[in-house]
This record gives sequence, C-alpha cells and structure tokens, in this order.
Amino acid sequence: MDNKKKLPMLTVVVPCYNEEEAVPFFYKEITRVAGIMSETNFEFLFVDDGSSDGTLAYLRKLAASDKRVRYVSFSRNFGKESAMYAGLENATGDYIAIMDADLQDPPALLPEMLAAIENEGYDSVATKRSTRKGEPVIRSMFARMFYRIINKISKVQMVPGARDFILMKRRVKDAILKMPEYNRYTKGIFNWVGFKVKWISYDNIKRIAGKTKWSFWKLFKYSVECIVAFSTAPLAIASFFGFMLCLIAVVGIIVVVIRDCAGIQSAAGWPSMICIMLFIGGVQLFCIGILGTYISKTYLESKGRPMYLTAETEKDNVNVNETRMNTEN
Ligand code: UDP
Ligand code: MG
Repeated sequence: MDNKKKLPMLTVVVPCYNEEEAVPFFYKEITRVAGIMSETNFEFLFVDDGSSDGTLAYLRKLAASDKRVRYVSFSRNFGKESAMYAGLENATGDYIAIMDADLQDPPALLPEMLAAIENEGYDSVATKRSTRKGEPVIRSMFARMFYRIINKISKVQMVPGARDFILMKRRVKDAILKMPEYNRYTKGIFNWVGFKVKWISYDNIKRIAGKTKWSFWKLFKYSVECIVAFSTAPLAIASFFGFMLCLIAVVGIIVVVIRDCAGIQSAAGWPSMICIMLFIGGVQLFCIGILGTYISKTYLESKGRPMYLTAETEKDNVNVNETRMNTEN
C-alpha cells in the first residue's frame, strides 16, 4: 500500500475582466499564500471573461511558466456569474475557492478558511464585509434597501454584505452546478443549497489596481435579477390590488343602496356606475393575479432546480466502512 499521504487539491477560481493591472499582484499574493500552505496542492484557474486588454496574454504567459496555472477564456464578455460558473465547472480540486482578481478577497484568509473545513467539520466557508467603508454613500444606501426588500419577499435569506469569496468542498460545488438556471445569482444559489456554512467577516479592502467593472446601473440590474430569481412576490401584486378594488366596490355598492333607500340622490346613475367599474376592474386584476400564480409555478419548474441535495450517506463515512470491512474479513 502507498504510505505517502495524498495532499488535497485546492482550486482557486478567479474571474477576470480587463484585469491586466491587478492580476500580477494577485498572482504574487496567491503564490505567497500557497507557499505557506505546504499541506495543500494548488490549481489556479483564471477565467478570462472576454477581456479586451492584455489579460489573456498575461494568463498565457503564466500558464507556460507555472504548471499550477490553468485558464478558460470566453469568446466575449458574459459577466461575472458566467465566469464563476465556468470556473466551478472546470475546477478539479477537492476544495474550491472563488476569488476576485483585485485582492479585495484576501488570499491570506485561505489557511483559516481551509482549517474550518478540515478540522471543524464545515462544508463551506463564506465571507462578508463587516463595513462598507470606502464605498459611495448612495451605493450603500441602495444595498441596504435591497437586502431589506429581498429578505422580506424571498424564502432564501440573503446575508447583507456577503461577498462571492467562498471556499467549499467539492460536494457543495457539485450542488451549485446542479442548479442549471440561466439567470444566475450565485450568492443566492449558495444560500439555497444549504450545507454547514461558517461565516467570517473582514473590513472592506480597496481594489489593488485597475477600476471596478460594476457601474451603479449594472448593480441595479443585478439586484433586480436576484429578486426575480428568488421571489415570485411581484407576480402576486395584481391579485392584491384586484382584491382591494373589489372590496372598495362592494363597500361603495352598499353605501349607494343605503343612500337610495334613504332618499338621498346625487347625479342619477353616477355612483352605481363608478362602483360597477371598480368591481369589474378589480375582478380583472384579480384574475391576472391568478394567472401570475400559475406563471410563477411554471417559472420555478422551468428552472429545473433539484428536489433535494444530499449532505452525507453511510458510504461517506469511510472510517466506519473500513472497520466494517475489517470485521467481515
Ligand atoms: N468580473 C468579471 N466579469 C465582469 C465583471 C467583473 O469576470 O463582467 C470580475 C472582475 O474581473 C473581478 C470581479 O469580477 O475579478 C469583481 O469585479 P469588480 O472588482 O470590478 O467588482 P467590485 O469589487 O467593484 O464590486
Ligand atoms: Mg472588486
């Protein structure tokens, strides 16, 4: 039998879009940390998300000089979500980390995160910012508002300040890849799949070089994407308004009848006309809401999300199996 212990492999997935200024800094820092973590093998998987600068040329050079470096280059810019998906799909490691190229996700945290998985029994370690220091005020305000809304209308809870910097076991990665939906919001999907997660927080760090790729408008669209992906509440709005209109119409009709009986007359026919219009409008909206409910069910079905995800079976508990085999022999 081979006595040499096989070291676990950690794949670091790095989405890069026009990051020629930041990637060299990132590579230097990640190799420094990899050097400290002598009990782990590394694979650095860069995903070039259709960069138009020298990112790809630099990655080619890196891959030629360092066997641990691999890269996937997109035909055009598909967005960070697609880049993360491609990274997870191509990762071969036992553990997988997703990190930004601009060192806003400090590689120096990796030893602590890996220890939580290897020694404390966690399946994944997620990170969040403890402060939004250094971010524009309006951006923070909208971010806070977004989290308040989404956590009211979605069953999956989103953690304010959560980053895409996650370290996970292969099992969690496979679970995330089982969610084939096209409109992706990885932070939400990560919460959806569950497993035993440890959260750690750190102060906001400024990007090392280059510029942010997220404009305010891009972030706004991204938050709408999250709401649509994880909540069907907007589809129920029509039902709500329809029901309210019907209620107002019924109250109005009662008032009209009472006034008529009491002999109080306004312009003949006008109050009853308004009540009928309100009622018909309400019924229509209510019916649209019912349609919305069916559409929301169809929408959820069309995502093809798995019915369940397994965290462990008796086969995973290798030690137990080994003792069982030994006693059988
Ligand atoms: N990114 C990407 N595709 C995009 C936009 C961004 O792969 O279309 C990458 C980018 O290269 C970086 C990470 O996603 O590694 C985070 O982007 P950025 O730092 O610009 O966002 P911020 O930290 O300002 O939110
Ligand atoms: Mg950044």
